[in-house]
Amino acid sequence: MGEAIQLRKVTKKFSGITILDGIDLDIPAGSVTVILGPSGSGKSTLLRCINHLEKLDGGTIRIGGELVGYKQVGNALYELNSKQIAAQRSRTGMVFQQFNLFPHRTVLQNIIDAPVRVKKQSRQQATAKARALLQQVGLATREDDWPQQLSGGQQQRVAIARALAMDPEVMLFDEPTSALDPELVGEVLQVIKKLAHSGITMVIVTHEVGFAREVADNIIFMEEGKIVESGPGKTVLDETQNIRFRHFLSTVL
Ligand code: ADP
Ligand code: MG
Repeated sequence: MGEAIQLRKVTKKFSGITILDGIDLDIPAGSVTVILGPSGSGKSTLLRCINHLEKLDGGTIRIGGELVGYKQVGNALYELNSKQIAAQRSRTGMVFQQFNLFPHRTVLQNIIDAPVRVKKQSRQQATAKARALLQQVGLATREDDWPQQLSGGQQQRVAIARALAMDPEVMLFDEPTSALDPELVGEVLQVIKKLAHSGITMVIVTHEVGFAREVADNIIFMEEGKIVESGPGKTVLDETQNIRFRHFLSTVL
């Protein structure tokens, strides 16, 4: 399998402060990568750079070999226009901590919105796909509900279905269970687990180390904008010699 996502010397600053400090990372197609790290270490920023919600201050990101957010002319990089960025971004699904569903639209409307508007699918086609996805996330009977009628776990499963409706090559999850009551975490992790190794390349920021151990092909530990440890899931968790990673693991286990 080739590299689905490739980062080279990725640097990001906010107000002159370096938030991502020369990140190099190769994520194989179809694999599951879990990113661990303390709050403020740059995990969300890294995900946001991968789908170009943030511009880079240095380095490059490629998905499937294609530069993300920029085109290269000679030795210079120029940012794509907003239409090109939107087209590129539609190939990457993102699931946030706060589900971000449209509150004034039903579950079904939430899921078919982007396929109809962005991908120009017929309503009929988009609806058929949405129903199959709702089945997949265990919410087949809820298509006419409003988001606020659902639990947090159910809303997050709708958000996952909505992202999948665009047939993304890559799915980015930013702490998908952190806003949930503890008893609702399992149902969302279960849905994500079923997606793992189904062909989609997945990058998951989470503090759920047990989950990471089960699904991650590779685990990355970030600190202060750098990847300070990485390796195959179980191995790196059991064998890391990095003292701060060990300390981090002891605080979240
Ligand atoms: P994490 O997800 O690991 O908690 P973030 O990527 O959200 O970390 O943030 C990393 C650092 O970047 C933090 O110090 C945060 O305050 C800062 N930061 C994130 N987004 C912005 C922004 N839009 N403007 C200024 N600083 C930001
Ligand atoms: Mg974050």
